[in-house]
Amino acid sequence: MTLNLTDLKQPGFERLVLAEDADAGLRALICIHSTALGPAAGGCRMWNYASDAEAITDATRLARGMTYKNAMADLGLGGGKSVIIGDARRDKTPELMRAFGRAVQALGGQYYTAEDVGISTEDMAYTAEETVYAVGLAGGDHGSGDPSPWTAEGVFRCLKVGAAHIWGTEDVTGKRVLVQGLGHVGLSLAEKLHAAGAKLIVTDINAAALADAAERLGAEVIAPGEVFQQEMDIFAPCALGAVLNAETVPALSAKLVCGAANNQLATPEIADLLKARGIVYLPDYVVNAGGIISVASEIHKRGENYRRGRLDGIATRVAEMLARAKAEGRTTVEIADAMVDRMLDQAKAA
Ligand code: NAD
Repeated sequence: MTLNLTDLKQPGFERLVLAEDADAGLRALICIHSTALGPAAGGCRMWNYASDAEAITDATRLARGMTYKNAMADLGLGGGKSVIIGDARRDKTPELMRAFGRAVQALGGQYYTAEDVGISTEDMAYTAEETVYAVGLAGGDHGSGDPSPWTAEGVFRCLKVGAAHIWGTEDVTGKRVLVQGLGHVGLSLAEKLHAAGAKLIVTDINAAALADAAERLGAEVIAPGEVFQQEMDIFAPCALGAVLNAETVPALSAKLVCGAANNQLATPEIADLLKARGIVYLPDYVVNAGGIISVASEIHKRGENYRRGRLDGIATRVAEMLARAKAEGRTTVEIADAMVDRMLDQAKAA
């Protein structure tokens, strides 16, 4: 079997590689946005893209996002992402995952891969048979396993920093918090909020998850379509992207938005709309970095103390970001992006 790696030109990115192995049925893109702060790290997604152009758009957008997420979490890692083109249910085989591993190995450590949409821990174990640059593994000395509990812990800590900024105290007792999506992250976050005394409102498309939250956490259950009609103090999106848009933001009663979902803003201008309405938005890529922190601990062969220290670091940077956004009259997204751009400029200058 022959593995072909073809470099494709993409301005603003360090490297975009097309990896093909006809025998294994592999066609993948590995995108390295920046290694200014360290080797690139970011998950591998398998998706049935309608065209190569769509796959390139997704890989580059996600790789750039990882540069910002990894920088803000102070992981000594750059940003990258890979996409395998195909239907994960139909086309994924152990040999395909191994062939992908050979492609990652051929980059010589410029890029670390892990699970993302369509790729499981078991799939990554096949990839790891061919490369030392596959992480997010369940086993081994430093295997980090499921990152979701760390993501939930990071969101919870940042939410408390946001609460202190608005109400002068991290105490969320009695605050009405709406958690949208009770999956791996959302349920864990809801449990933490319940333990901290918050009043929970929950929604999901999974009736069993809702019944469980109502019984165990005393949560008020609402239908997925009723989110923006609720009175709430804090909104925690933990399901889908683009939930904050021109239709929903004008109706949102929350004073604080802090949740795990990726790409919460439908378009960048929504950050201005939130600011104009006096709603404090904590950028998703900053607060949901617990998962990549967990993965980074595996890359750096570190343990729980490293993870906790990095989560503390995010909370500190969120406090700094909020103070600057207030002082400079800018959105939290502008400030967070500027903080990362400065780190990248300093690293490049050094
Ligand atoms: P998950 O698939 O376990 O949970 C998502 C939940 O959302 C499910 O319970 C699903 O039923 C529910 N849902 C789907 N559509 C819904 C709707 N219309 N209304 C309400 N609920 C709906 O995913 P997860 O791992 O918990 O991740 C949640 C979000 O956080 C995703 O956007 C993910 O990309 C992001 N994220 C997760 C991690 C992590 O460590 N798992 C890290 C960073 C970001």
